[in-house]
Amino acid sequence: MIMRIMHKMAEDRYGASLAEAAQFFRKIALEIDQNPNDIIRYYSKLPINYLNDLCQQSCEKRVKLYEALSYGDAGVLLACPGPSLAGMMINELADSFQRDLFHKSVALYQARTFLAVTEPNCGSNINLLSTQLVKQESALGHYVLSGEKKLVGHAATGALGVVLVRTAKGPLGISAVLLMPETVNSPFVERQVLPMFGLRGAQIGRLIFKNVGLDQALILGHHRSTIERGMAALIKTFNRMRPCVGAMALGVAQAILDYIYDNKIQFSLDEARYYEKLNAKVEAVRFLLYEAALYIDQNPYDSALPSLVKTKATAVVEEISQAAFSFFGSSSMIEHPWLTKWYCDAWGFEYMEGTSHIHKKNIFYGYGKKSTYFVPSKISTP
Ligand SMILES: Cc1cc2nc3c(=O)[nH]c(=O)nc-3n(C[C@H](O)[C@H](O)[C@H](O)COP(=O)(O)OP(=O)(O)OC[C@H]3O[C@@H](n4cnc5c(N)ncnc54)[C@H](O)[C@@H]3O)c2cc1C
Repeated sequence: MIMRIMHKMAEDRYGASLAEAAQFFRKIALEIDQNPNDIIRYYSKLPINYLNDLCQQSCEKRVKLYEALSYGDAGVLLACPGPSLAGMMINELADSFQRDLFHKSVALYQARTFLAVTEPNCGSNINLLSTQLVKQESALGHYVLSGEKKLVGHAATGALGVVLVRTAKGPLGISAVLLMPETVNSPFVERQVLPMFGLRGAQIGRLIFKNVGLDQALILGHHRSTIERGMAALIKTFNRMRPCVGAMALGVAQAILDYIYDNKIQFSLDEARYYEKLNAKVEAVRFLLYEAALYIDQNPYDSALPSLVKTKATAVVEEISQAAFSFFGSSSMIEHPWLTKWYCDAWGFEYMEGTSHIHKKNIFYGYGKKSTYFVPSKISTP
């Protein structure tokens, strides 16, 4: 079943060109949900310029792109080839050789990419990462990579990507390495797609590194000091990514609201009030999202506001994806398969880029002492 998008509403909100890209995402959404690898068949029709822009732009522009494309379909967006989150890490840390190598390879292989952070034993807690990069001679270079990553988008379907590794004890001992296709496809790397019931385009999976030889040239930011390329650079990158996950959640929430408006024949007074309340929540999150994006472009080390907006956007999409059923009665799960799909997708955002209880810790610290957003007196005056 192909669902029409309310052209006018999408165009007013996102502009004609993005609304058209969203329309295409919506058209192929159910097919990609069933078989995410079908995305390759549509390569020539995908909005490659927007997919490349996702990692190149300011956070302000990026959240608008993420919201609009996720309004089309977040699963399709996650299935797409392109630099994606790995590209953001490359932008932050890579030298010009690495940058060139990465972007040329993404274009050449029409590649899907991965950014591997999460591990089976410590989740996404970077402080406890145990995937190791040690200095040791091998046939392929002066370093050897070993360890395991899990729940990583395109771990098994990406042609290349970036992996977070530990090079020494402590917060300065964290680095990121670029894995090129010849390494990813070598017998020293084991890969597996894991089953999913929502956001299936992400194709999360497992990567096992069995003493993989690597050249120093693939360590991102090897030309920089350990402080510049360690935890600080990663925090900056994560702060810039989190509003994007919030934007994806918001795009889905908006899609559900528009679907209700488009498909509900008549609203009772109570239903109209409830709908307006949900709409107001989406507007409030969008306002906060734009604030956070602008703020993080200026204050990339301050984690509180990105954490707040990611937590809020996640909560709103979860609420709306459940509330949607109440507008269509008891058989709505059968009669409105889109609502069921969005309901499954909505719960994935909580687990992308850290869960809410970890973000609430960042928000607490922001109120307590660090964030100039929450504590304006901290803003330095000239
Ligand atoms: C659709 C989807 C796509 C995903 N894509 C990717 C991807 O591309 N790459 C990737 O690496 N992962 C990816 N993930 C995995 C995701 O990032 C993690 O599962 C998520 O961040 C939750 O982390 P967690 O498992 O540590 O759970 P949490 O509930 O966040 O943490 C579990 C425990 O770990 C500890 N902990 C975690 N973080 C911290 C912290 N910052 N400080 C202190 N303690 C902490 C705490 O003890 C906590 O109780 C994806 C997940 C989904 C659903």
